Amino acid sequence: MIFTIGPVLMHDYTKEVAGMQLPYFRTAQFSEVVKSTTAMYNAAAFATEGDETIFLTCSGTGAMEATVLNCLSQDTKVLIINGGTFGERWVELCKLHSIPHDVVSVPFEKDLDEEMLKPFRKRGYFALLVNIHETGIGKLYDAKMLSRFCAEEGMYFFADAISSIFADEYKIKELKTDITIVSSQKALALTPGLAVVTVSERLYNEVILKKKSPDMYFSFAAHITEAKRGQTPFTPAVGIIFQLQKRLEKILEKGVENVIKETNGLASYFRQNVVRLPVEIPSYTLSNCITPILLQKGNAKRLFEILLDKYDIHVTPSPQPHTDKMLRISSIGALEKKHYDKLLEIMDKELKNLI
Ligand SMILES: *Cc1c(COP(=O)(O)O)cnc(C)c1O
Repeated sequence: MIFTIGPVLMHDYTKEVAGMQLPYFRTAQFSEVVKSTTAMYNAAAFATEGDETIFLTCSGTGAMEATVLNCLSQDTKVLIINGGTFGERWVELCKLHSIPHDVVSVPFEKDLDEEMLKPFRKRGYFALLVNIHETGIGKLYDAKMLSRFCAEEGMYFFADAISSIFADEYKIKELKTDITIVSSQKALALTPGLAVVTVSERLYNEVILKKKSPDMYFSFAAHITEAKRGQTPFTPAVGIIFQLQKRLEKILEKGVENVIKETNGLASYFRQNVVRLPVEIPSYTLSNCITPILLQKGNAKRLFEILLDKYDIHVTPSPQPHTDKMLRISSIGALEKKHYDKLLEIMDKELKNLI
């Protein structure tokens, strides 16, 4: 049983696709697969007319770095929301590539609110960089509030939606993001290795076309040019694109809202039941994707190891400084209530033995 944040429990229908022999990709047939998959993706992510969606062959961090390389420079000062590991990753990327930046530090127990943003108004930032769901601690930010903030301040809006989209409501058109980053191994429940980036028309025209990307492999301009004919500059993750095609067919068939409702149902089921055990759930806003639990006693890393070694149950350990106290249990992938019943039963037993 796998309750991790990614890779997650895959659906039988995508596993079937994953086992198939791959075709050569520089063909009209494969171009059609890419085009139809892109169109389905844009529908499921509620992309804006004129947006360009591209497929990169890398994990999510590759797409974050590609965004920095393609869109930012030493002349563009950005604002970063940092509430944990993934916010910190934007900070590290900007440091590494000498992008001037300021940071909004979100305290652990608090939700990001307008008050915290206030000191950063009227300061002429080029863009806002955020992870809509700070997966490190399972905190979901108010994307609509951030969208308004960017519009009022005239900033581009760069959102890493990797662990939120298709689990929480996320509509590109409503949020008016200029960059939305997604990767294959989270709520899409596919093999890791494919990142999807949706670029707004204005960002493409005003920034990407004018700026020469310092990077060949990750050039957005080259990807966008190729995407128009259903291709990529280099060999794409052909197999994961086939998985994505299948998965999107299923998501659209069911309806994005219903997929989100189901994930929310699983998360709520687990949350309602886990509080009967000696654990607490933090009071900040949570994503449907994952539930952070804080152990009242005993070491969380130890419980993680027991679940793995004794029961072959994979839960998600937490990054520092929460490693000893916090575990994270996901609700994405092909999980069902019965999986949680089993997990809760075992956790109940093992928590009693834990010192
Ligand atoms: C998983 C995740 C990423 C990507 O991490 P990779 O290990 O590069 O796939 C980026 N941002 C967030 C918010 C994530 O949850």
